[in-house]
Amino acid sequence: MTIKGFFNLKRLAAGLATLTVISALVFYFYTDYHLTAMYGGHTERADTPSFAERPEVLAITNVSVLAPTSDSFSENQTVLVRDGNIVSISSETIPSANATQIDGRGMFLVPGYTDSHAHLWESKNDLMLFVANGVTQIREMNGSEENLVWKKEIEEGRVGPDIFVVSPQVANFGKLTGWFGAWTQRKRNATSPDGFQQLVKSLENEGYDAIKASSFLNSEDYLALNEAMKETSLPLVGHIPYFAKLDDFWAVNQTEVAHIEEFVKPLRQEFGYTAENAGGFLDFVRERSDEIAERLKDKNVHVTSTLALIDSLPEQVTDLDSLLSASQLQYVNPGISEGTTLADRALGWLPEVNRYRFRDEWDNARRKEEVEYFQNYSAALHIMLDAMLKKDVPILVGTDTNVSVMVPGFSVHEEMQSLNDAGMTTAQVLAAATSVPARWMGWKTGEIRPGFKANMVLLRENPLLDIRATDSIEMVVVNGNPLSRSQLDEMLLTVKAANDKSRKVSIEKWK
Ligand SMILES: [Zn+2]
Repeated sequence: MTIKGFFNLKRLAAGLATLTVISALVFYFYTDYHLTAMYGGHTERADTPSFAERPEVLAITNVSVLAPTSDSFSENQTVLVRDGNIVSISSETIPSANATQIDGRGMFLVPGYTDSHAHLWESKNDLMLFVANGVTQIREMNGSEENLVWKKEIEEGRVGPDIFVVSPQVANFGKLTGWFGAWTQRKRNATSPDGFQQLVKSLENEGYDAIKASSFLNSEDYLALNEAMKETSLPLVGHIPYFAKLDDFWAVNQTEVAHIEEFVKPLRQEFGYTAENAGGFLDFVRERSDEIAERLKDKNVHVTSTLALIDSLPEQVTDLDSLLSASQLQYVNPGISEGTTLADRALGWLPEVNRYRFRDEWDNARRKEEVEYFQNYSAALHIMLDAMLKKDVPILVGTDTNVSVMVPGFSVHEEMQSLNDAGMTTAQVLAAATSVPARWMGWKTGEIRPGFKANMVLLRENPLLDIRATDSIEMVVVNGNPLSRSQLDEMLLTVKAANDKSRKVSIEKWK
């Protein structure tokens, strides 16, 4: 090779390197822009309406108050609230002249609800949807740095639900590709026992309230994560990983499972579920469910329901349009509902992006198989729930909000209805949305009792008689701040207006 040829080669190599760097940067910024949009981060943020200062003393008079056991109301009570906390509940109290008084005659006061499985992503407006629906606590199940900031703002007095921020899911996407999964799916990656230990420590220092196990862990990783948890006081929550076995779950110290379906998945693997043996599968679940429920009860594991979502799946597959029309789609962050076509099975509600939709290339047989699959999945879930209820396993009302058709705030009422339809009494459902999650989180909320936080909902109808009354909301008290029905409606309108400005796809069709 001549000297000149050598220099040309060097120039060519430099040119190629520059081109590679530029394409990598373009790829990164393009993808990141679309990911942020999909997680709701480009939607206009609605201003939280500014309401009058929280009254120093609030008195709700002549109201029926839900007992801490959730199974009865005491009539004609006056609930006194000072500086955001309940100070007394009595039929004798005569409020002082300086108290802000709310006449609760003929109405029912219950603790604010908790959605124990929420996903805020980057959709801050959702905080108002929760409050407008009486949801005054949420467990964010794949938290972020930004969610931690919102939590703090609310603690400092901004209107919003109290947020229990679970860490981003801890996954093992491998050494080489780990950063990609972590970036696109907003998870955190570790690949070795030491890695898990460092990650858990770091998540604790960042301020998360719990550590979430991802589905993307094998048995070995799952046990390593459990080992790493011994260095912290945080609870381990979330999924039972796809490639772990039920025996691994019994061996680890996980105090909460994020879906009832987590117990259906390992059984499906054990059974070797196929389209042909589906009927036999349900018998298998029936056989195994009692023993599983008994062990859950012994270990005091809390199970989050997400039942309405699973029950919606057969219809999401066959008749998504009807479901979208029945949902409160106007309040959903349009970034999330419009989703992305960058990746299959990403977020998105509308037909072209919905992960559950029929694919065009599927023939009728394949479609039939898909519907039956989801029907069986839902049936298996109900069998499992029946067993859990029989053994008195603590259930938490959770909805997986922002997964297709689960509208933040609104979906809590649907979930309560689903659980009631599935056999829980109205009292059990109310407890699963109030006192049970509060006790699990270690929060003094979820009961109307002196010393507890004044997060409450004033209802026009009695939810013990009909669970649908949970959304007959006249007023929401959040952190001692009473928000009237008209203020709640104003919040909903503000969110809708911000969404309408940011929408790229019209939703007229689904009204
Ligand atoms: Zn989830």
